[in-house]
Amino acid sequence: MNLILIGPPGAGKGTQAKILEEIYGLKQLSTGDMLRAEIAAGTDLGKKAKAIMDAGNLVSDDIMVGMIESRIEQADCAKGVIFDGFPRTVEQAKALDAMLGKKGKPVKAVIEFVADEETLVERLKSRIAQTIAAGQEVRGDDNEETFRKRLGVYRAQTARILPYYEDKGLLKKVDGMMPIDFVSQEIKVMLK
Ligand code: ADP
Repeated sequence: MNLILIGPPGAGKGTQAKILEEIYGLKQLSTGDMLRAEIAAGTDLGKKAKAIMDAGNLVSDDIMVGMIESRIEQADCAKGVIFDGFPRTVEQAKALDAMLGKKGKPVKAVIEFVADEETLVERLKSRIAQTIAAGQEVRGDDNEETFRKRLGVYRAQTARILPYYEDKGLLKKVDGMMPIDFVSQEIKVMLK
């Protein structure tokens, strides 16, 4: 089973992806995490991506599609994937459809996390404060200004893929402002 989670930054996709991994034995692929791993490893791709990410913009479709295409071939993806942060553009959505279609393993559901932007900004601020209090490093794109930029990019580019999946009858919505357990319960019910 392949699932796609779509929603603005900070809406709780990563948290739910971890829970769904456990329940269904799927593999979470977070393209944000994959890019941050490239940055940490100091690869050419990581160097290129860092400036784009720190500005709150999107890394190119070619890079992202190539990254996902090779990743889903690996053994740990055999039971299915939870796509978290991908696709983010209509181009990426079409490329993913083609890839999964070839494998005969289409997307079962696309779950949209609906969230209020100002609440997300408040959540971000408390997350930054907690990270600093714990003595950990704050992500390069986790500051209010870049976060607002990412919200705008979500609205302008990523939200455009929602009608694409709606037309295919795959789109389901959850209220990302509800407690974690409530959201996972709703998702479990919709996947039955
Ligand atoms: P969040 O969900 O909090 O916005 P992510 O970790 O998913 O954060 O992504 C962080 C950044 O990584 C994005 O702002 C973007 O620059 C880059 N990125 C991640 N996934 C993609 C993608 N599918 N296409 C283009 N850029 C991406």
